[in-house]
Amino acid sequence: TLLSPDGRKESAGEANKTCAPPIACSSCMRSVDGKAVCSQCERALCGQCVYTCWGCGALACVLCGLADYADDGEKTLCTSSAM
Ligand SMILES: [Zn+2]
Ligand SMILES: [Zn+2]
Ligand SMILES: [Zn+2]
Repeated sequence: TLLSPDGRKESAGEANKTCAPPIACSSCMRSVDGKAVCSQCERALCGQCVYTCWGCGALACVLCGLADYADDGEKTLCTSSAM
């Protein structure tokens, strides 16, 4: 095995500060491609972790969305509508 004496490589050109850092879903930590944000805690959510409140239509995360199992399927209420 040969190791170069200066084993470091300068990663040039990747320090672009103008780009916003990729937003991770607060629930599953995947990168968020959309702009879904929980209306309660304002955390970023991916499309698979966002819930839509059937009461007011607000977006909620899994922590703020309260699943309510009714007769006609799963409904999700945000904390505001659940009150
Ligand atoms: Zn997610
Ligand atoms: Zn939330
Ligand atoms: Zn609601």
